[in-house]
Amino acid sequence: MDHASTFPVVLARASGARVRDVDGNHYVDLTGFFGAALVGHRNPAVVRALRVQAGRLLHAMGDVHPADVKARYLRQLCRRMPAQDYRAILSLNGSDAVESALKLAACATGRPGVIAFRGSYHGLSAGALEVTHGEAFRGPFRKTLADRAVFLPFPAADGSDADPVLRLVRDCARTQRTRLGPVGAVIVEPIQGRGGFRVPPQGFLAGLARVAAEAGLVLIADEVYTGAGRTGRFLAGDRDGLVPDVVCMGKALGGGMPLSACLLRPRVADAVRAAGGEAVHTSTFLGHPLACAAGLAVLAEIDRRDLPAEAVRIGGVVRRRAEAWKERWPIVRDVRGAGAMVGVELGLPDGSPATSRARAVLAQALRRGVILLTEGEAGNVLAFTPPLVIADHDLAFALDTVEECLAGP
Ligand code: PMP
Repeated sequence: MDHASTFPVVLARASGARVRDVDGNHYVDLTGFFGAALVGHRNPAVVRALRVQAGRLLHAMGDVHPADVKARYLRQLCRRMPAQDYRAILSLNGSDAVESALKLAACATGRPGVIAFRGSYHGLSAGALEVTHGEAFRGPFRKTLADRAVFLPFPAADGSDADPVLRLVRDCARTQRTRLGPVGAVIVEPIQGRGGFRVPPQGFLAGLARVAAEAGLVLIADEVYTGAGRTGRFLAGDRDGLVPDVVCMGKALGGGMPLSACLLRPRVADAVRAAGGEAVHTSTFLGHPLACAAGLAVLAEIDRRDLPAEAVRIGGVVRRRAEAWKERWPIVRDVRGAGAMVGVELGLPDGSPATSRARAVLAQALRRGVILLTEGEAGNVLAFTPPLVIADHDLAFALDTVEECLAGP
């Protein structure tokens, strides 16, 4: 089941933003390994917390007899939410958090349909796939899909279609029936991650929250990629004063350990309790003590190092360089993002995506010691999400390398 055989690097060690493979090759990491290594690979505070926790308790009893460290973690995580009444379901992956969100939202409204956006990525487990847009992911499983999502256009960054999109959301909430029934929720990434780092226009998220409230839709903010300080705020939605009914987080939360969270306001959180005495949504490793211990260390590191501010500073360095590429080479069509989540879109003169060129840049950069990935449905957006502890000279080396690859044939 190895789909990555054309990417022949097997990793052996990593520290901060530096990585070594089994053959002894060294790399600078511009990806944070899918954005997860926000506090750096093998962050010393995370490793220390894991050692201490491993000496006490490895595995607890989820939501029956939880670990003390889970309670401490939840208190710290919920303190960082945009309102004080969030409750949380912990899990292991981003898609788990999305599953929790979709199940509980449907339970709260009795309306299982969901509004999602074109270009969205919310994970690939059964429920999450319903709201993930990409045909590449959906196609093979089409017959298993319940088609509970209505996909609306994600608004253009220039704001030209923001109001029409909001009108569509309003109309959809009123009239649209999916195969499973009427629409009860809307799920949105504050910045589309795998969709190509697409940033909605200023005010769109606040407008969406307003429309959702008016229409009685549960607003689910998928902050799996954007959350934990990546975009310059703890949550990307904080910039717009968003207080979503549900927030999904993952990736960076665990500092390299599998940890995700679905945070719910009481309107949604209480729905499942009303459903009966049985723990209707739980799992064996929920609130895993090691992940929670790592998660506590991650939150402390975000504060101690003011990583949201670092995200803005590091993102600024990347953006300035990328803007110069855009001036120089027509193939660099757009530079966008927020904080240390910067996308550089490559396009051909005829307007089509420069997918094979992006792939070539990736492969050349890898050979020269830089790990980079692409995003976007056509895979033509170079994605910069480095660990926020990357040294200035490592970042400079990595950007020089990407520049040389872009300059080449
Ligand atoms: N939501 C978003 C916004 C994501 O970017 C991702 C992963 N790229 C997911 C959900 C799914 O997370 P995971 O791969 O951890 O299941």
